[in-house]
Order: sequence, then C-alpha cells, then structure tokens
Amino acid sequence: MARNSFLIIYTSSRGGLEDSAGPSFVPHFPLLIFNLFVRYNLADLHTHSFCSDGLRTPAQAAEEAHQAGVQALSLTDHDTVEGIGELMLAGRRLGLDIVPGAELSAHVRDREVHILAYCLDWQDPQLLEHLGLLRRRRHDRGMAIVEKLNHLGISLTLEDVLNQANGGMVGRPHIAAAMVRRGVVSSKEEAFDRFLGDRCPAVVPKPYTSAMDVIGLIHQVQGVAVLAHPGIMPEAVIAQLVEYGLDGVEVYHPSHQPLQIEYYVKLAENYHLLQSGGSDSHGEAEGPRIGDCGIGCEAIEALRQRSASYA
Ligand SMILES: [Zn+2]
Ligand SMILES: [Zn+2]
Repeated sequence: MARNSFLIIYTSSRGGLEDSAGPSFVPHFPLLIFNLFVRYNLADLHTHSFCSDGLRTPAQAAEEAHQAGVQALSLTDHDTVEGIGELMLAGRRLGLDIVPGAELSAHVRDREVHILAYCLDWQDPQLLEHLGLLRRRRHDRGMAIVEKLNHLGISLTLEDVLNQANGGMVGRPHIAAAMVRRGVVSSKEEAFDRFLGDRCPAVVPKPYTSAMDVIGLIHQVQGVAVLAHPGIMPEAVIAQLVEYGLDGVEVYHPSHQPLQIEYYVKLAENYHLLQSGGSDSHGEAEGPRIGDCGIGCEAIEALRQRSASYA
C-alpha cells in the first residue's frame, strides 16, 4: 500500500468558507518532503469543480492535473457525481487515470464528517436518486438562510445566490459571495463571521444524514468509503465509522500537519484501513493547487481491489 509516497505539508490555517465540517486552509510554504521523482507516480484523489463549490470545470481540473504532472485524478465534488462524465472524457484525452469519486456529507455522534466515495458506479439510479434528494435539501436550506437574512433586514434573493452557484449546488459560500456582490459585507469572511457561521444569526442546521447509511449506500454502488480530512478527530468516532464499514482514511491532506500524518498512517495500519490523499483544491487563487498534495498511484490499485470486492 502507498505510504509516505508524496507529500507537501502546509502550515497555516484559518476558519473557512468551505460549506462543510471540513478544514480550510491558506497554504503558504511547502514545509516538507518534495521528492521530484514521485511526481511521476502521483495521484491527487481530492479535488472540486463548479459542480459543487469549486471554481473550474471538470475538464479544466483535468488540464490542471496534466500541467502539474499528476498521473491520476479524482474529482470529489460535494454530494454530486455530475462532473465525472466530463472529467473521464478530458482525462482520456490527456492520458490521466481517472478515479470516479464524490465527497458525501454525513453525521456520526452529532459530528459532521465528509466521506469520500471512490470507484463507485456513478450512474447507478439509486445513487442518483439519493444525490437528487440531497440537492433538493441543499436548495431548501439555501432558501431558509436567505429568508433568515431577509428577516435580519438584508435584501438578498435566491436568484442572487443561484447566480453565484453557476447552476451547481447551493452552499453557504455562494450565499456569502452574493452578499459581497450586493455590498452587504466587504468579504466572504465577514459574511461568515457576522451571519453565516455556525453560531451566527442566519444559521440553518444541515439535515441529519447518518454515516452508517452513507457508507452503506457507497458500498451498494461498489464504492470505497474513505474518511476525508479527519484533522483532529477522536479515535472513538473513527472506530464507530469502521464499525459501519469505513474502508479507508485520507492521510495526506493540506490541512494535516506532519504529526497528524504520522498518526493517521499508524491508525490506518491498526484498523486495517486503506490510505488516500489529495489536495482538496477548489481552484481558488489562494488555495492549494491540484498536485500540491496526493499519494502514490499504487493507492488506487488498493481502492479498485476493494471496490471489486463489493461487486
Ligand atoms: Zn471536505
Ligand atoms: Zn473536499
């Protein structure tokens, strides 16, 4: 299994705009190991496009990966598989190994976690139905947040927000962007600090989705369930997810410090979990770029073998 194959670790972090339980980060200087040789064997298994909250098309993501010398790529948009078809086509043209993926939100022990699904049958009707339901829920939540903002005297319409989402999924970052555009706040950070953050006046809790159900669904469509960017997470939560059938853990992520990486490598061994890694690049100028973090391509073989065992 791939281990310590490739990593660049970033230092600083900040409270974030990602509409998620996930960490966000402002990468500055690569700190550690950058082995040029492993560029020839690099898989970036965590990226985003317009289809969720990224700032690029899936084809542009493939192009960026190619430019960065990445060998294998997975697009893991939040709660959608919409970009995979386009990515496959672009990947084929550029000679990239494409791993079908998605990043699904779930809850375990009152905590929101992100579960990466790899090698899944992304055209399965049952999966598409589930994702359609999530999309409607996101839309409804977006509407509820806009209503709350209106009650707070802020004039904003759902249309303003949808314009920011480019036809993709609606999330708080799009609402923040619409607020900046309307001149209600001067930055997205301010929108989160004053209105949209977790303890702020316009908060609308995300509907509860059980991690057990999400992992079950991923397995039903031959997917491999990998815990995304665990960051600092109690081991009991991970043990619970393992009990639900979790297959792997994202060891390499720009938000993980060297000690965390070491910790998760050990944890993966102790719980017999597969390992994955990726940049979580959204295409923002100040965020990580595709290929800035990843794992050796041999990790993909392990994911594919696990997926085949669910067929
Ligand atoms: Zn995430
Ligand atoms: Zn992500």
